[in-house]
Amino acid sequence: MPAEIHQFLCLSDNFGALVHDPATGATAAIDAPQAMPILAALKEKGWALTDILVTHHHADHVQGVAGLKSAFPKVRVVGPAKEASRIPEIAEQVAEGDVVRVGALAAAVIETPGHTAGHVVYWFKSEHALFAGDTLFAMGCGRVFETPMAVMWDSLSKLAALPGETQVYCGHEYTLSNARFAISVDPDNAAMAARLREVAGLRAAGRFTLPTTIARELETNPFLRADTPGVRRALGLETAAPSAVFAELRERKNRG
Ligand code: ZN
Ligand code: FE
Repeated sequence: MPAEIHQFLCLSDNFGALVHDPATGATAAIDAPQAMPILAALKEKGWALTDILVTHHHADHVQGVAGLKSAFPKVRVVGPAKEASRIPEIAEQVAEGDVVRVGALAAAVIETPGHTAGHVVYWFKSEHALFAGDTLFAMGCGRVFETPMAVMWDSLSKLAALPGETQVYCGHEYTLSNARFAISVDPDNAAMAARLREVAGLRAAGRFTLPTTIARELETNPFLRADTPGVRRALGLETAAPSAVFAELRERKNRG
């Protein structure tokens, strides 16, 4: 039976996401930005929380753990081994290539260091769903806080190689500001311009712009396109290594 995935806002622009396995009743929260809206979403759906899959240690991804744990004392907290000391209530530490089960569903753990040094993402391959945390955003990527830029480029390249139809759920609703930046660094990309209009319309109507897909991101995410002629030309970096083009993109976005 296919998973049911429910996405909703927490805090100001964080996404909460629930992955429910109808075969067993198991339900995982992806990260725990805020307990109240996650508990409300569980109640609305009639689901009981069994697991919390944490992508990284930042407060806006773990601060809801305590509240969820008091409502569901048996909940299992899964998170990256490399950040275990900074993840509250962690019971299962995971690393590259591990498989996390949520009922009968299975997620492969992919390490994507960059935003934080131990960041992981969860890929439910049979569900064609990727929970990318703060590594990959729609038309953007996370800020690189804890590794050299080239490490983040390698992490994004791993995600870019996943099947194009993969649905990508991200940690934040940042798409509109990402789209405005994207246009400035890939000005001749018609798909990007069209997506900016679409995203502006969705946001004006109070709707989410996610999930996205890997295929769409390959077409319209400048951070996955650091090796394309259009982006290189716009930055005046025709012969630089892709990781250097990526670094320049990330620095420009930080300043913007
Ligand atoms: Zn973060
Ligand atoms: Fe975040």
